[in-house]
Amino acid sequence: MSFGWQWTDDEGNPASRIDVRTHERAVTLEYAINGKPVEQRIALLETPCNYGGARAWFECPCCRRRVALLYLSRQVACRQCFRLAYPSQSEDLIGRMWRKQGKVERRLRTGKRMTNATRKRLIDELIRVEDAREAAFIAAARRLLGW
Ligand SMILES: [Zn+2]
Repeated sequence: MSFGWQWTDDEGNPASRIDVRTHERAVTLEYAINGKPVEQRIALLETPCNYGGARAWFECPCCRRRVALLYLSRQVACRQCFRLAYPSQSEDLIGRMWRKQGKVERRLRTGKRMTNATRKRLIDELIRVEDAREAAFIAAARRLLGW
């Protein structure tokens, strides 16, 4: 079986979509992150029910635990994995870096009477902030993916 779901923006334009294909012991999810197509196979696990039959679960692709719900953010994972991967401290750090970068970029854009030395110092600072933000993001992604 296959089916899809589409999200639209306020004007009714397609904003995002996900397609699902089912297999005997898995589902394949097709979606895009920042325009990049992703195809991900999620295993299905079963537990026997008390009164016969079986109940199906998703296997979280991060922690391999049996879960009833999966969430899609930058990738698919269970709630617990997202909570572990994005604790307030890494969110705060990444957020702080974005704000700092915005401040430096604004200064570079609006600073008309700026000496070359000042401009160079600001550009160096911008590169440092970008590197630090990247490192904070990679650290959060590592925890999420269990690298
Ligand atoms: Zn998980």
